[in-house]
Amino acid sequence: MLIETQFLYESCLIEGNVPLADKNWFGTGGAAAHFVEPLYPQELRDAIQFAHENDHTVTILGSGANTLISDDGVDGVVIKSQMKDITYRDGGASVALVTAGAGATLDDVITFCLANHFLGLEEFSGIPGTVGGSVYINLHYFEFLLSQFLLEATVLDVVRGELMTVDNAWFAFGYNQSTLHAGTHILIDATFRVYKADAITDVFYAQGRRHEIMRHREKRYPSKNTCGSFFRNFHDDEVALEVNGRKAIWVAYYLDKIGVKGQLKVGGASVSYQHANMIVNDGSATTADIIGVARKMQELVRKEFGIVPQPECRLVGFDEYPLLNGSYPSTGSGRTR
Ligand SMILES: Cc1cc2nc3c(=O)[nH]c(=O)nc-3n(C[C@H](O)[C@H](O)[C@H](O)COP(=O)(O)OP(=O)(O)OC[C@H]3O[C@@H](n4cnc5c(N)ncnc54)[C@H](O)[C@@H]3O)c2cc1C
Repeated sequence: MLIETQFLYESCLIEGNVPLADKNWFGTGGAAAHFVEPLYPQELRDAIQFAHENDHTVTILGSGANTLISDDGVDGVVIKSQMKDITYRDGGASVALVTAGAGATLDDVITFCLANHFLGLEEFSGIPGTVGGSVYINLHYFEFLLSQFLLEATVLDVVRGELMTVDNAWFAFGYNQSTLHAGTHILIDATFRVYKADAITDVFYAQGRRHEIMRHREKRYPSKNTCGSFFRNFHDDEVALEVNGRKAIWVAYYLDKIGVKGQLKVGGASVSYQHANMIVNDGSATTADIIGVARKMQELVRKEFGIVPQPECRLVGFDEYPLLNGSYPSTGSGRTR
């Protein structure tokens, strides 16, 4: 690993020129100019203060499962939370309240829940990512949204440096949407409302369901060197086409029609043969290759249908937006998968 500098600023260790390719699921991209892994809120505060004092931008990274990092790397300070504690308290007769640090993976939270006989979150089994990234995007799988479980959270106000306890409504959740998108707050931890199992057989059922979901996902989707769905689904007002009396908002529908699945390739990046909305790195791709594939997908959909898919994947470190802009907002109520 190429670490050029390493120094202490107040309570936090700041490393310089840290490669990020091994910190995201595409496995591509350059280095972070400055990199911090805070274990406590105070370290996070100090990292933000360091960024403010030096006029650096701040980029928050979870496990990089929904992030594409520029080949030129990321200027400023990249912060990857290491706050991973998971605890619970009683929430009443049938309810438990599970609090997890932003740096914990959702998989860890589900494992913790099932070990303590708490049910609900297993519906998100097999989806990679941290609590921070999952709350940010309001993780979704079929009819389940993470916001259905979130009771409250602790966030850091980036400007004031203050910790706040906020409730579900504060997040203004939608599909792929939360207040965290504004970049004014960083998630420290989140508390989920889950259900105490009535009987041990309910736990066995939930464990079985978890394995079934993971098996199903493994068969249907690529599970590494990808960010999952690259483009978000369209919003109702972005599409005119109707299928069976419903607006055709599913981006994979259009991508399937133009026949990119397993066909379109640029360098080491290609559209997965399993899913028309997933781009995979064969191990040799650069971020430029992935952008090349994504742009081609946009161009083909625009040519055929007059609409331009917009990324669900977060693009980080690009001086200029590398994809085609649509004529509509890039976030909102589009539903994916
Ligand atoms: C194989 C595969 C399958 C997938 N399947 C699904 C799926 O079924 N459903 C689904 O919804 N997603 C899916 N995804 C996408 C991904 O799993 C989710 O978006 C996940 O929540 C990303 O978490 P992360 O920690 O990796 O976030 P990152 O990619 O690291 O970050 C994503 C965004 O969250 C922000 N962020 C991260 N932590 C914080 C924090 N503490 N405070 C504020 N902002 C923060 C980042 O700044 C960034 O903008 C899939 C991805 C892969 C690779």
